[in-house]
Amino acid sequence: MANVLFDALFAPLSGREGPLMILPDGRRLSGRAFLTLLAQAAHALRAAGVQPGDRVAVQVAKSPEALAVYGATVAIGAVFLPLNTAYTPAEIGYFLENAMPRVFLCDPAKAAALTPVAAAQGATLLTLDGAGGGSFAEAMAGQPDHLIPEPRGPQDLAAILYTSGTTGRSKGAMLTHANLLSNAQVLVDLWRFTDRDVLLHALPIFHTHGLFVASNVSLLSGGQMIFLPGFDLEVVLRHLPQATAMMGVPTFYTRLLDDPRFDRALCSGMRLFISGSAPLLAETHRAFEARTGHRILERYGMTETNMNTSNPYDGDRRAGTVGLPLPGVELRIMADGAEVPPGEVGVIEVRGPNVFAGYWQMPEKTAEELREDGWFITGDLGTQDAEGYVTIVGRAKDLVITGGYNVYPKELELLLDEVPGVLESAVIGLPHPDFGEAVFAVIARAKGADPDPQAILAAIAPALAKFKQPKGVVVVDDLPRNTMGKVQKALLRDTYKGWFTA
Ligand code: AMP
Repeated sequence: MANVLFDALFAPLSGREGPLMILPDGRRLSGRAFLTLLAQAAHALRAAGVQPGDRVAVQVAKSPEALAVYGATVAIGAVFLPLNTAYTPAEIGYFLENAMPRVFLCDPAKAAALTPVAAAQGATLLTLDGAGGGSFAEAMAGQPDHLIPEPRGPQDLAAILYTSGTTGRSKGAMLTHANLLSNAQVLVDLWRFTDRDVLLHALPIFHTHGLFVASNVSLLSGGQMIFLPGFDLEVVLRHLPQATAMMGVPTFYTRLLDDPRFDRALCSGMRLFISGSAPLLAETHRAFEARTGHRILERYGMTETNMNTSNPYDGDRRAGTVGLPLPGVELRIMADGAEVPPGEVGVIEVRGPNVFAGYWQMPEKTAEELREDGWFITGDLGTQDAEGYVTIVGRAKDLVITGGYNVYPKELELLLDEVPGVLESAVIGLPHPDFGEAVFAVIARAKGADPDPQAILAAIAPALAKFKQPKGVVVVDDLPRNTMGKVQKALLRDTYKGWFTA
């Protein structure tokens, strides 16, 4: 029997003498050299006692070796469990307790703090740093460069990725070989990736975007990656002329636009810019096209489902929408147990080969969100127009219910963002003695502007029913975002929770 994901993504590298990765210092790593790293990592994991089905948890800097550990884990039939490098030892303790990995790889600098955490869960701790050093790297050296992969079928687990857990504890989404491969195949096809592509890869590889969308798509198409440890503007500007495609979160694109050196000439070799993980402002979309001539292609997905929708490659890439359901993915918009007509808001549900197998050791949570007939309740609120284009209006849990009326934050945010002096905005609900919740606007001021908060509210008032109008407003320099560029509304709700009640 074959190993579904390994055979599609990694086995073809054996004959590849040309580069797979271009590294920030200009070094090139051939496909074959990467496969050697992968084989050595696989042997080192086996030597550390990892058996098929075991979890391998990693909290390490992005590097070729770190990606090789992903491939190695899949190759030996184990389950890859990447963790955000920002997590504290206390947070890591939760993940290790929940997932019970056989091995935990961390940065050598964190080993002292994490040794007792790993020991408490019976995991073997080994280290790997961003430069390919550490006890795991030592264990890899001298291992054979050839590997016989463990047989794995389509329904076997390849990875567990924990959700970002903005409400309650993080849940481990179980992803199968078939989930990951089917989505990569669809995306390669849809976005026309080939072995001539050079993908600028500046995303983290502990998240579905950088690990699966970016890395799997590039590996499957046989292309190259400019593999950068993170988004450093100078480094990205330097490497752009070599690239043909880039995947990013919206903040990558706003940061590029903030720099006058980012222009049409720099993008002359590019054929595609893709955005996702957080909403791309329509204004960014327009400014990007004006500067570069490229229309950013926005897509929508999540940890549990891989990618669900995408704007078309040919055809209309509509700013402010996340495009059409991917081939093979069914999508419906539900309210009160029924599908809503085009244009009306409801909860987005999806079904298809991309949808995960459930939450790790949380059958009740799985049953709440994954219906028996395969539909997954995403928790995102959205609309779908008559042509099939999907627009996200926010997370269901961010919906504000004030005096019994529903207010969709996105409706207000779109209006607020148009007001002069406003860069962007986040609308949240805060506890209110009369209304239960009251609408509250957090405004990020545009560079050099000092807008009057009350004047901003007055500017949008004529377009809104009274119950939707914010009852409070604050102007700040920046909205808080997580590493994937998502505005942290839970943090804002916490910061301002006493605004109406104190
Ligand atoms: P994660 O599981 O961390 O990938 O987060 C998934 C969530 O990010 C989705 O449920 C959406 O709420 C949000 N998201 C992803 N892509 C987009 C997008 N293009 N526009 C708006 N929200 C998005």
